[in-house]
Amino acid sequence: MVMADGKVTPGGIVTIGEILVEIMATEPGLGFREAIGLVGPFPSGATAIFIDQVGKLGFPCGIVSCVGEDDFATVNVERLARDGVDVSAIAVDPSYATGSAFVRYRPNGDRDFVYNIRHSASGQTQLTEAALALLRRSSHLHIMGSSLASPRIIAETKAAIVMIKEQGGSISFDPNIRKEMLGAPGMREALTYMLGACDIFLPSGHELTLLTESKSEGGAVAEILGLGVSAIVIKHGAEGAAYHDGREHRRQPAFAVNEVDPTGAGDCFGATFITCRLQGRSVSECLRYAAASGALAVTRKGPMEGTATFAELDGFILSQRRGLVPGAPAPTPSGADILAELATARAAGQPFGITSVCSANPFVIEAALLQAKEDGTPALIEATCNQVNQHGGYTGMTAADFRDFVFGIAQDVGFPRARIILGGDHLGPNPWKSLPAEEAMAEAEIMVEDFLRAGFLKIHLDCSMGCAGEPVALADAEVASRAARLAAVAERVAAQVGTKPYYIIGTEVPAPGGTVEAVPETEVTDPEAPLTTYAIHRQVFTEQGLGRMLGRVIALVVQPGVEHGNESVTRYSSAAARALTGALAHLPGLIFEAHATDYQTAEALADLVRDGLPILKVGPSLTFALREALYGLDEIAAVIAPEIDPEVLGLAEVMEQQMMLKPQYWRSHYHGNPAALRILRHYSYSDRIRYYWPEPEAVTAVDRLFARLDGVTIPEPLISQYLPRFYTRVAAGTLPATARGLAIEAVRDVLRIYAAACRPAA
Ligand code: ATP
Ligand code: MG
Repeated sequence: MVMADGKVTPGGIVTIGEILVEIMATEPGLGFREAIGLVGPFPSGATAIFIDQVGKLGFPCGIVSCVGEDDFATVNVERLARDGVDVSAIAVDPSYATGSAFVRYRPNGDRDFVYNIRHSASGQTQLTEAALALLRRSSHLHIMGSSLASPRIIAETKAAIVMIKEQGGSISFDPNIRKEMLGAPGMREALTYMLGACDIFLPSGHELTLLTESKSEGGAVAEILGLGVSAIVIKHGAEGAAYHDGREHRRQPAFAVNEVDPTGAGDCFGATFITCRLQGRSVSECLRYAAASGALAVTRKGPMEGTATFAELDGFILSQRRGLVPGAPAPTPSGADILAELATARAAGQPFGITSVCSANPFVIEAALLQAKEDGTPALIEATCNQVNQHGGYTGMTAADFRDFVFGIAQDVGFPRARIILGGDHLGPNPWKSLPAEEAMAEAEIMVEDFLRAGFLKIHLDCSMGCAGEPVALADAEVASRAARLAAVAERVAAQVGTKPYYIIGTEVPAPGGTVEAVPETEVTDPEAPLTTYAIHRQVFTEQGLGRMLGRVIALVVQPGVEHGNESVTRYSSAAARALTGALAHLPGLIFEAHATDYQTAEALADLVRDGLPILKVGPSLTFALREALYGLDEIAAVIAPEIDPEVLGLAEVMEQQMMLKPQYWRSHYHGNPAALRILRHYSYSDRIRYYWPEPEAVTAVDRLFARLDGVTIPEPLISQYLPRFYTRVAAGTLPATARGLAIEAVRDVLRIYAAACRPAA
């Protein structure tokens, strides 16, 4: 297999068959006899969906097919290539159009189709030199009955089977056939040949007995195994699947999901099953992954839009264990509409704010949801591009994983999902800026698509950073045109998933993740800058046909003179920012957003809300408060529940060890002699220690700390000594003195300052 990176891997999966686009009616109804709304083209074709799913799983794979010289080909071939499919054996025949299928759902769920497949380019599929070369590199061939559209294609497919078998490879076969096709000349013979030739047979329920003499399930299974087929997997849609080989019979239940579009479930199921088999996984694991793949496919509108990576399948299986239902409506727009109201309310002289929690720490998320629950507000939770992305970011989470992680905590604390607004920060090429711009932007497009698909509704588009060979910061026009490219992706996906995202544009100069200086020196953004940024974005977005989204661009990122260093905080000054905030008078319907408002005083936060910066982003100061509480609890545990095992380190020592072992998250941020560095590592306002709480050793240490204090009511005098901020409340009996509860409370104390600043001034 020749993979996207040019490497050659022995033995992948190959398939032969149709590449199409699908164009779907937007409303259910009967057929296509009047002018109706359509959406598409979506990449489609059973074989293409199948091989795309294999590619997403990172397994070497390729397809033998034929397309025309048109945009429908581009839509499909680019997607396949992007998802890791070898496209070298897709021939281009300029005298034919790429295949297409128009589909409309009837009110009862049946479908009407208008096909152009047989007489499209895909009807010209043959074993070209490139196809033969691909087959030689492959060790498994998958055949779809739906591809056997003509005697010539049947003959070519048979030749491919012979080749793969001679190479010692294996064959799988999914009849995937509509009843009408059975009557075509030579079809039944061809299907019977494929059945006899395959190792793994993957029929839909009704197809099991199509080619057998026996009409019972048991009889047909025995008959087919008797032909030398080594395994049969029967697909029963929402009823799950059944597996039979010579030794065992199993049932695989379906996962419970909201079915949005059934197309492609069987193809994804089959692709994942075959891939897992070739990876040598157990039958039960193959079936579980396959069922997850089929289930995810039906939650997405569009035939190939539901293909998934192993990380996505794992996340899905995990979320199912927690009882979440993917494909259930994303947070309702009414929750996110509060973002649009920020500017309106301010214009009406009644400003209010919203706390934006920028953290992936589970204690912080829990505290944020509990606080929002108490306050009766939505919970806005944001992730940045380096933290969460298609490669996992530094948290190891994709956008969907992050959503499920937040939803999981929401479920635990009884916070309604509809009131969670997820935000994506600095979405753009930043994580890949060491690559050439084109490659970095391609990654950014995938990232934006993933965030939108996962239901994120606050989208910050930031294309300000130069990529390989470019200046550090780009000119406004280039930034805007790259942002428009990402906005187009976001709007397309939003239309598919039925959401209306809100956008933030522009950037303050420092890179995401905080500044590097030890001493903050903060320059307030020049008031002209946001005016120019907005004017150029408006012009470029309009030129690119994105004018409609301008109404949902709600904020511009600026630096209002708010920053924290390691040991000091630059406080917001209304007076110093007056020229900047005055510029909002020329930007009706818009607000400004500061990159971070950590460690600001209650008065400064209230000023920010009033001055037109009502989105109060907070992150490091929340984990800072958490760390203070945990260290205090560790001191308390040392007094009242001393560790018996002398080998076990205290919490601060465990953290020190982790930070010394993996210094990459603090090294470039902290400077000084060893003693100064040690203090910074634990106590800096920059709170780089927050990156180390997810380390398994840290998680274990915190769990152990809670376990030691489990069921213990901490004596008041020790609260007074080590956690004085809670003393009054504990002494008054309004706050239970339990370890975990106090850790969460420490974070909520900070959040309460923000909540108070957000409430409209009386
Ligand atoms: P098609 O040819 O239309 O893609 P198929 O008949 O080949 O469909 P299905 O049985 O519809 O395949 O789907 C394959 C698998 O996907 C099922 O066995 C099941 O595990 C999963 N699946 C399909 N539909 C659903 C659903 N509504 N809910 C959950 N899982 C589903
Ligand atoms: Mg099928």
